[in-house]
Amino acid sequence: MKFFNNMSIENHMLHLNGHSVKDLAESYGTPLYVLDTDYIKTKCNELKQHFKHPSLETEILYASKAFSSKAMYELVNELGLSLDVVSGGELYTAKASNFPMDRVYMHGNNKSFAEIQMALDSGVHRIIVDNLMELEYLQSLNRPVDILIRINPGIEAHTHEYIQTANDDSKFGISFDSYDLSSAIDICQSSDTVTLHGFHCHIGSQIHEASSFEKTASVMLDQIKLLEHKYSLNITELNLGGGFGVYYSKDQPITDYGFLTDLLNQCSAYISKQNLKIKKMMIEPGRLLVANAGSTIYQVGFTKTTASGKNYVFVDGGMTDNIRPALYQAEYEACIGNKADLDNDKLYTIAGKCCESGDILIKDILLPQADQEDYLVIASTGAYGYSMASHYNRLPKPAVIMIENGQPKVAIKRETYQDLIQYDL
Ligand SMILES: *Cc1c(COP(=O)(O)O)cnc(C)c1O
Repeated sequence: MKFFNNMSIENHMLHLNGHSVKDLAESYGTPLYVLDTDYIKTKCNELKQHFKHPSLETEILYASKAFSSKAMYELVNELGLSLDVVSGGELYTAKASNFPMDRVYMHGNNKSFAEIQMALDSGVHRIIVDNLMELEYLQSLNRPVDILIRINPGIEAHTHEYIQTANDDSKFGISFDSYDLSSAIDICQSSDTVTLHGFHCHIGSQIHEASSFEKTASVMLDQIKLLEHKYSLNITELNLGGGFGVYYSKDQPITDYGFLTDLLNQCSAYISKQNLKIKKMMIEPGRLLVANAGSTIYQVGFTKTTASGKNYVFVDGGMTDNIRPALYQAEYEACIGNKADLDNDKLYTIAGKCCESGDILIKDILLPQADQEDYLVIASTGAYGYSMASHYNRLPKPAVIMIENGQPKVAIKRETYQDLIQYDL
């Protein structure tokens, strides 16, 4: 397992930002999500250093869906980032954390009327309009709305390379060359209440190739140029979305933020050459900010070796606290926290406790001999872990703690059995 900053080993014991996993497990129980706040801060500052430009205003939005909670939003606010929310629930959480609404962007391909009203009443900075019908609805409200339009740039990138498709059937966004986009622009141009400030796109997740983002930027800018010629628009903002890849397991590179500066330089050169009015560039990373900051501590229960010789380690969580391996074969690294520097000489599969054969957290990993009550730590679970957690098999959701300056604090309490039945009648 790769040991990130602020991870250390003393007497074979893994420490997360100064705290031994044993102490954390004993104090807060297992499974336990641990977020290293100092790591998030360091990464955020690095990101800010790289995503800035002398002639363009820049803004970094944290994509909440990676991990959303009041404590996280407080941190995002303290770090001076803006916030992207995609639901009434995320917006409600942002409000509850006193997040400044003039730095909140509201996304979603199917915002309900109630969510739109809540967003407008709360005074969010921009609504990111996902389709024509949504825009027609906003126009019908007859109240001031500031928007970006989400574009489907016909580029899809999931892991490594981008795929460019002429007509993409994504559920998100409006294609450039479409009747819907010209209708949308017509609405914005004739509207007294809806103001179009710019465009947004987001091409996928866990993308490691800078070329995918460069291609996207160039498609967006080319098309904005054409639109500026065709209509007289005042497009001042361009949001290139998130999806920046992170390290989860070997073979995946550690993200080097340098490409963001290159990307801004590329955009700035094009903008001035073509005389575009774009003043502000935005990105909205989610996992980039939190994935590697998070670890999950489990306690090992039983182990078994099957008749054919396969070794299982069973842990006290599973697909309920991390659905990603079951959902899309996501890979992770792990160690036995109390044997962190012993030789990894035994091949194991780490399985959870849920009633699904697919409840496997890591398939085939070398670890030291695993014993009951060992602490198994899976790294890089800070994004899309808690936020995708479920109550399957009626497992209570684990606690989340955040460690800052050596000080652990509970960000989300562990659920109790009583919590599980609180809405049952
Ligand atoms: C999911 C998403 C993000 C963040 O994606 P990451 O892979 O976590 O960076 C940003 N913007 C939009 C619109 C998204 O849907």
